[in-house]
Amino acid sequence: MTPVVRPRVGVSSCLLGEEVRFDGGHKRFRFLTDELGLYVDWVPYCPEMEIGLGAPREPIRLTADGRLVNRSGTADHTVAMASLPVPAGLDGYVFKAKSPSCGIFGIPRYGSDGSVADRRGRGLYAGRVLAEDPLLAAEEEGRLSDPGLREAFVERVFAAARLRVLLGGSWGLTDLADFHARHKLQLLAHDPGRYRAAGRVVAAAGAEGSGPRSPATGSGPRSPGTGSGPRSPATGSGPRSPATGSGPRLSAAAEYRELFLAALAEPATRGRNANALLHAYSRIGRLLEQPRRRDLVGRIEAYRRGEVPLGVPVALLAHYAAGGDLPWLAEQTYLAPFPAGLQLRHAV
Ligand code: SF4
Repeated sequence: MTPVVRPRVGVSSCLLGEEVRFDGGHKRFRFLTDELGLYVDWVPYCPEMEIGLGAPREPIRLTADGRLVNRSGTADHTVAMASLPVPAGLDGYVFKAKSPSCGIFGIPRYGSDGSVADRRGRGLYAGRVLAEDPLLAAEEEGRLSDPGLREAFVERVFAAARLRVLLGGSWGLTDLADFHARHKLQLLAHDPGRYRAAGRVVAAAGAEGSGPRSPATGSGPRSPGTGSGPRSPATGSGPRSPATGSGPRLSAAAEYRELFLAALAEPATRGRNANALLHAYSRIGRLLEQPRRRDLVGRIEAYRRGEVPLGVPVALLAHYAAGGDLPWLAEQTYLAPFPAGLQLRHAV
């Protein structure tokens, strides 16, 4: 069974229905408020309100030379935006598209003559958040209407939360090894190379000697225990410096986190999913009767050919795991990487 966690997810406030937009309105996005919000803890933030612009307000925009100014050109908010704190301890972020503060992709940048110079800008605040934590799962709300992008984002968010919870508590290297083993199929579906590299990190740390479990002294690479709000740049803390302590445990945590999150950031292709499914088959096939073996392989190959969605072979594996005789399989997060109530995996 995949452990139940509640990810902490940053979100542009207007997407939750807060009336903080320049026109005094909001851009409530129902997938967030009505579906994903049942399973995550939001950390809402409106950078333009935080720099004191109020709502309603004159719209602002990016300039080609990287500044954030009002439309009439009488106010420059670049320094104020650069001084805002950025969050720590998040498992993902949903940004508002097309915003010069929050957008991630294709934000227009204006030349001195007032015309659009290009559309290659990134919102100033979003850019700071992602520069601070490049492996943070981040999406714009509009892209979450695409089933594949939605599933990929949600999967990364819940995986990151499981790792954060592990590293933020009392853990030993055997716990990290167990975590890695439970995520085997999930990692193989995304990035087999990083799966193996992360395994080497765990093995090397174990060989150096794990000793008894250490107390929870803030072991995570980015312990969220210091509070939920954005982190002030004035504190000068790096994005993921190991917390207090030393030795194989902490360096393994930092290295493992990097590899794990980078692996999940790689798209899970149909081919790699099929290979992961066949790996599961190789572990459990001999325990199944012949007709069931044929049925399982048939469904995996049908998925590989694009004839059925991923949910079909995964549901069969989950069915066998529920029988109680296949503990390795039952522990695999791949079978339930996010809450079933989100109704994902039916279109991918
Ligand atoms: Fe929404 Fe961001 Fe604009 Fe605030 S600054 S209204 S959170 S898009």
